[in-house]
Amino acid sequence: MRMSQLYSATLREVPAEAEIASHQLMLRAGLIRKVAMGIYSFMPVGWRVMKKIMQIIREEMDAKGGQEMFMPTVQPAELWQESGRWQVYGKELWRVKDRHDRDFLLAPTHEELITAHIRSDVRSYKQLPMMPYQIQTKFRDERRPRFGLMRGREFVMKDLYSFDRDEAGLEISYQKMHDAYTKVFNRCGLHCRPVVADSGAIGGSGSHEFMALSEVGESQILFCHQCDYAATDEIAAVDPCPTGVGEAMAEMEKVHTPDCKSVEAVAALLDVPADRLVKTMCYMADGKLVAVLIRGDRQVNEVKLTNALGCVELFLADDETVRLHGMEPGYCGPVGLSRDIPVIADREVPLMVNHACGAGEKDHHLINVNPQRNDYRIDTVADIALVEKGAACPVCGAPLDTARGIEVGQIFKLHTKYSEKLGARYLDENGKEQDIVMGCYGIGVGRTMAAIIEQNHDEHGIIWPMSVAPWQVEVVPVNDKDEFLVERAEALYQDLQDRGVETVIDDRKERPGVKFNDGDLLGFPLRVVIGKKCRETGMAEIKVRATGEVKEVALDEVTATVQDMVDEGLQALRG
Ligand code: ATP
Ligand code: MG
Repeated sequence: MRMSQLYSATLREVPAEAEIASHQLMLRAGLIRKVAMGIYSFMPVGWRVMKKIMQIIREEMDAKGGQEMFMPTVQPAELWQESGRWQVYGKELWRVKDRHDRDFLLAPTHEELITAHIRSDVRSYKQLPMMPYQIQTKFRDERRPRFGLMRGREFVMKDLYSFDRDEAGLEISYQKMHDAYTKVFNRCGLHCRPVVADSGAIGGSGSHEFMALSEVGESQILFCHQCDYAATDEIAAVDPCPTGVGEAMAEMEKVHTPDCKSVEAVAALLDVPADRLVKTMCYMADGKLVAVLIRGDRQVNEVKLTNALGCVELFLADDETVRLHGMEPGYCGPVGLSRDIPVIADREVPLMVNHACGAGEKDHHLINVNPQRNDYRIDTVADIALVEKGAACPVCGAPLDTARGIEVGQIFKLHTKYSEKLGARYLDENGKEQDIVMGCYGIGVGRTMAAIIEQNHDEHGIIWPMSVAPWQVEVVPVNDKDEFLVERAEALYQDLQDRGVETVIDDRKERPGVKFNDGDLLGFPLRVVIGKKCRETGMAEIKVRATGEVKEVALDEVTATVQDMVDEGLQALRG
C-alpha cells in the first residue's frame, strides 16, 4: 500500500468523550469513525486489523471442528417468543417492525435461530457432535454505550454453538473451545486470563470469561496467588462472617442519631465497628421497590442481586421514591416494614446478633436488633455481597487479590436450556428421543481489537503485535527529492511484497518527522528507513516499534532480515 493513496481517516482533535487510550488512538489513527452512539464505521486500516483478528479466530475454530456459516441479523419475534426471551430480554433487545406491522428484532445473539436450524436438520445421534459458528454483526441497545468499540450498540461477534448427545460430549466441546480461546488470544498478543463467570441472560450453568488484563477494564476479577482460583466479582463468594454470634440477644432499643445518614457516621456515634450494622438499601427491580439488607461494611454486587431477584432492570431508588413508599431516606430499616415491600438479605444478615440498623424514622436507629428473634421479616436470603480484595480464597483460604479486566470472550454450558424450549431432539442408538446438549461461545472482535490496543501502546501511538498489524512493515524513504533513495525504497517495497510481507511505503511528500510520527501512531511493527546512510554505506535501518531497537542492515539483506523478523514475531505469538 502506498501511504499517498491510503484512505486515511486520521483525526487531529480527538473528541473529549474518548476517555481511554484505545478509543482515542483508534480515532486518531483513523481506524474507526463514529456514526451514532455506540455505532461505528470501520475505516480501511481498522478493517484490515479486524480481518486479521477474524482470520485468527477462524483458523482456531476450524482447527477444533467448527464449521463457518452466516445467519441473518433480522429475525422474527416468534422464535424469541418460543424461547421466552422476547418477554424477558428488556430494552437491550432492539425490536423492529416490518411493513406488515409484524414483530422482528435485530439479534443480540443467535441461540434461538441456530437451535431452530438444528431442530429441523438433526435427527440422529450419528449427526452429533456439531459446532457451527459465524462471525456476524450483533445489536444490543446498551444503556451505556461507551469506550468506542468496547461497548457498542452494533458490534461484530464470533459466536459458535456446540451440539452434543450428552453432558460428557458437552464437556469435551467446552474444553475444546477453552483451548481454542486461549490460542486465539495468545495469537492476538493479548494477556488474557480465563475466570469463572456468571452465566447471565444467556442462561445455563458453567461458564468462563476470558479477561484481557487492563486498568480500564469494566470487570473486576478476584484471583488467588496461592492456587489457580480466579473468578469475576459477579460470582466470587466469601464464607459468611456474621457478627455478634455467641452474644446473648439484648433488648432492642431506639437511639437518637441526628444527621447520621452514612454507615460511618452511625458507627462512629454508636461507637461500634461498621460490621455490627445492617444497612437497608432500596432498589427498583423491574419497577418494584425492594429492600436489600447487607452488613454495614459490605457493598451490594448488583449482578448478583439482579440474578437473585430474577429481574431485568435494577437501579437504586431515589429519595423521592423511597419517601413515596413510606420510608425515610438515610434511616431505612427492616423493622416494621410494610408487607408490600419484599425484603432480600445477604447471607450474613439472618445470622447476625445484636446488630444496629435504621429505625425507619428520621434521626433514629435501632440497636440490639435480632433477625433470629424475628424482629423483622426476611423474604429471601441470597449471596449478594461484593467480594473485596483480601477476602479468603474459597479454595485455599489465602487472601484474594483483585485486577481489572476487559471481557473479550465468554463460553457457556447451556445444557438443554434452549433445546428443551425449542424442541431440538435426536434419536439415540436405542431409537429413544433425547434433548440435544448445547454450549455457546462468543468473542467480541471489535472489543478484542480495543483490548489489544489497551495492552499495546505508548505515548506515540499503537504498537501492533505482528499477527494483527494492518501492515507488518513500512518502508520510509526520508527524502522524496532524492531519486537514488526513492528508487531503492521502491525496489525494496516491491521485493518485500513479492515475498509476501505486508508492506506500506510512505511515498508522501512529507518531512521525515511527519512520516515517523504517523508510522508510530499507526503502529507498524517494523520500519525500514532508507536515508543518507544508504547512499554513503549502502546500509538501511530497521527499527522495531515495540522496543525501539535499531538494526543496521546492508540494503540487499533487508528483505531476508525483515522476513525473518516477521516470521519470528508471528512464531513467538503462537507460543
Ligand atoms: P458485557 O458483560 O460486557 O455486557 P456480555 O457478557 O453481555 O458482555 P456476551 O453475551 O458474553 O456479552 O457476548 C460475547 C462477547 O461479545 C463478549 O465477551 C464481548 O467480547 C462481546 N460483547 C458483548 N457486548 C458487547 C458490546 N456491547 N460491544 C462490544 N462487544 C461486546
Ligand atoms: Mg459475557
